[in-house]
Amino acid sequence: MRIVIIGCGVVGAAVAYELSQTPQYSITVLEKTIPAQGATGAALGIAMGVISHKVKGRNWRLREASLKRYAALLPELAAVTGQPVPHNAQGILSLCFEAADLTRWQSLQAIRQEQGWPLEIWPPAQVATVCPHLRLDTVVAGIYSPQDLQIAPKALTEALIAGAQQRGVTLQVASPVVGFEQQGDRLEAVQTESARYEADWVIVTAGLGSADLTQQLQDLGEPLPLVPVLGQGIRVRSPQPLGLATFQPVINGDDVHLVPLGEREYGVAATVEFPEDGSVMPLPQEAALATLWQQAIAYCPPLRGCEILETWYGLRPRPQGQAAPVIKLLAAGSNVILATGHYRNGVLLAPATAQAVVDLLAAESRRDKG
Ligand SMILES: Cc1cc2nc3c(=O)[nH]c(=O)nc-3n(C[C@H](O)[C@H](O)[C@H](O)COP(=O)(O)OP(=O)(O)OC[C@H]3O[C@@H](n4cnc5c(N)ncnc54)[C@H](O)[C@@H]3O)c2cc1C
Repeated sequence: MRIVIIGCGVVGAAVAYELSQTPQYSITVLEKTIPAQGATGAALGIAMGVISHKVKGRNWRLREASLKRYAALLPELAAVTGQPVPHNAQGILSLCFEAADLTRWQSLQAIRQEQGWPLEIWPPAQVATVCPHLRLDTVVAGIYSPQDLQIAPKALTEALIAGAQQRGVTLQVASPVVGFEQQGDRLEAVQTESARYEADWVIVTAGLGSADLTQQLQDLGEPLPLVPVLGQGIRVRSPQPLGLATFQPVINGDDVHLVPLGEREYGVAATVEFPEDGSVMPLPQEAALATLWQQAIAYCPPLRGCEILETWYGLRPRPQGQAAPVIKLLAAGSNVILATGHYRNGVLLAPATAQAVVDLLAAESRRDKG
């Protein structure tokens, strides 16, 4: 079975990696530039599973499936590629500033306990012992999730695609998809500027680019509108580790994350900036970045003494009119699968998305044969 995957961000790479375990599949990944240059290249890779307030339904099932898969996937990738994928397994600590929010955290803790996931609620004094760098006078509790993690998105994507290539997947870089050949309600081939790829199945993992591609495929199924939501971040270097060198979790205060990156470097991210009314593309707002920085300094004052190494931004693909992510057939009976629109959680959800695609493809193949 010939499968063409369009786009090699973290989602396309994860799909290629998981599908490559089926030897009957002949897989080609077509990437417009090089892997991990889109949203994936701008992400910090925080995997907020247990600490998210999603407790049931598809969104929780995907988060939980990803967390479980990551536990095996990271050592597997290290073994396959000979290189560890940098990740932080010291958990996520979320600061709670409102006493009124504590009840919500306590009920989440009870649900997680039933689901078999630990979630700890620490009084400020306990937070102070392990995180002496944080300003805690307005903090009522620290919510600590030891099993959530953070993974370096570029290294992860590169490891996934390298692992897939070792199992026979072909990656074509600098190969933007520009057109399709159709026969009835099925695609027959995918065209880049310089080549044509015949396909039994096409999987669209093109992030924001998926909107244009589904527009081109509108004879086969509904186009998928995606809104670009801009996120800015700041990378800094501290003269010494912030807090204890032995305990460097990801810290979250009011949705502003402080992410240890090793070598006394930290990422502070990310703003959430929608396109202004009437515009299709948001531009990075200086004021939003300044607010992010002030919010981070408010709970972590030693950031003031850090050297700012760079600021960056990226665009998150947010589906319009349906929940993120979109993992489904373009239309019943078509041979196109959409695995895209991951908005703020593509790194977290890539393994579960890949598994969902594997399952969907297997189910459709059985149906075709039946
Ligand atoms: C600042 C910021 C911080 C973030 N932090 C986190 C985080 O901490 N945790 C988390 O889970 N998520 C985070 N995200 C979200 C995450 O980055 C995305 O959800 C995820 O990267 C989406 O992955 P993707 O593979 O679908 O898309 P992308 O990474 O955008 O990859 C799509 C690929 O498709 C290619 N492509 C597009 N069109 C075509 C075409 N026509 N032909 C061929 N190739 C094509 C592109 O070149 C690109 O390489 C963050 C995002 C931003 C911007």
